[in-house]
Amino acid sequence: MTPMRIALVAHNKKKDAIVTLATEFAALLQQHTLMATGTTGGRLQSEVGLTVECLLSGPLGGDLQIGARLSVGEVDCVIFLRDPMTAQPHEPDISALLRACDVHNVPCATNVATARLLLDDLARR
Ligand code: PGA
Repeated sequence: MTPMRIALVAHNKKKDAIVTLATEFAALLQQHTLMATGTTGGRLQSEVGLTVECLLSGPLGGDLQIGARLSVGEVDCVIFLRDPMTAQPHEPDISALLRACDVHNVPCATNVATARLLLDDLARR
């Protein structure tokens, strides 16, 4: 199995959810190359024990870093647990990342249900 380059992002109210999800799929995730926005990545490292490359925090440009990498073929899928109920100061960056996923046809799960489908699919490869 070729390792996938997976980017993980969770807004603050979704961070517990991504930790829970990553804990459930830890055995799978650790077979892949992981990157994350700063705070999300820190929690995945400290609470799940995953090896994660931590980029900038989302509001400081982390989403844009993921989008830039993705645009040059360096990200294979994105798990981006968005908080649809809270305005985000970096909304333009979020839109840019989602747009980059669609431009480059990169799978992007924006809620736990879709993330599970994506990870279940990865587990079968
Ligand atoms: P964070 O960024 O993981 O650094 O909190 C996520 C975001 O808010 O976009």
